Amino acid sequence: MAVPEVRWGNEAKYLAECVETNFVSTVGKFVSEFETAVTKRMSCAKAVSMVTGTAAIHLGLVALGVRPGDLVIVPSFTFIATANAISHAGALPWLFDIGEACWTLDAAQVEKALEEKTVMVDGAVIHRETGRRVAALLPVHVLGTAADMTAFQKIAQKYGLGHLADGACAIGVTHRGRPLAGFCDLTTLSFNGNKTITSGGGGMLLGNDGALMERIRHLGTTARVGADYDHDAVGYNYRMTNLEAAVGLAQLEQLDRFLDRKRAIREAYTSGFAQLSELNGFPHKEGEESACWLSGVVFSQDRTDGPVRLIEALRDRRIEARPFWKPVHLQEPYSEMLREDLTVTESLWHRIVTLPSSVSLTAEQQKRVIGAVVEMFAPQHA
Ligand SMILES: *Cc1c(COP(=O)(O)O)cnc(C)c1O
Repeated sequence: MAVPEVRWGNEAKYLAECVETNFVSTVGKFVSEFETAVTKRMSCAKAVSMVTGTAAIHLGLVALGVRPGDLVIVPSFTFIATANAISHAGALPWLFDIGEACWTLDAAQVEKALEEKTVMVDGAVIHRETGRRVAALLPVHVLGTAADMTAFQKIAQKYGLGHLADGACAIGVTHRGRPLAGFCDLTTLSFNGNKTITSGGGGMLLGNDGALMERIRHLGTTARVGADYDHDAVGYNYRMTNLEAAVGLAQLEQLDRFLDRKRAIREAYTSGFAQLSELNGFPHKEGEESACWLSGVVFSQDRTDGPVRLIEALRDRRIEARPFWKPVHLQEPYSEMLREDLTVTESLWHRIVTLPSSVSLTAEQQKRVIGAVVEMFAPQHA
């Protein structure tokens, strides 16, 4: 099968350089070049590369002082890795709802719960009912659309919470035209194979606090002191390899083209289905650009069997359509977690169908996808 050319630029060339120079592991020029290139692209002071996006969230929370038994505020509507990273730190997710129009963490609900359900004890925010400390606030930039960071920055400052944003799908995105990583202590990226750009596997932590970022680099490199076997903390072997960074750097060079393509795909689906009353498009937030990581359709409330039927009909035509994230509170390991009202999350998640959104999708192929969906709903127009 032919490899779609649109996905690859200098990857093979940079990989060959790693092999020829013998720098294939965590030391090598591509690691620092990739980190520097990402700080430029995201307008932040520092970046530390990681083995995965999940590891980046985990280490970020540890560095922010999240301890075993703490609570971390997080939306239930996210990929399970966000909650897993909280668990890896020994903490527990406190699950919140999302806004209907944007699919990101509901700032008003977070503020209200902090006000009504917590109390300050010796400078710590304590959840009254459980007696647990609320240690951090973790919004998610869902699908590469910025969460309401202006509001979350205020909340985090007011309560003295650690503030990490999961931006796994948000490379190349700003919030109200300002650098995304400027609103919180730490922002994480993922370069997993399914994200806008990939390094094969990988992640990154972004931030503006030099001391915090140095601490993260140290902890992520087995907390080694000097060149010999001396370590001053329980560290992690979480650093990205030069091979992965070589691929990541070559991918980053193509980011603008990928983002243009992703946004064009979103637009074509939105206008292609505009006359179908049974379907809504993916969220668009006024004044907010999105990375449009994935695109698809959302069924209106009254067609509950629709998503399954659409997915099957498209699969019959060899078009890959898929459900989207099943929320964290419906996942077995998290069914007993502390949670607020999740009305929007529960009504939304099973109505979503993602459609082919890869940068290698051609306009012709997308036309075929749109045609197949329209045919299912409006046979007379087919
Ligand atoms: C992909 C993803 C992650 C996990 O990143 P990995 O690199 O796969 O570990 C975390 N959060 C969100 C929202 C994601 O989409």
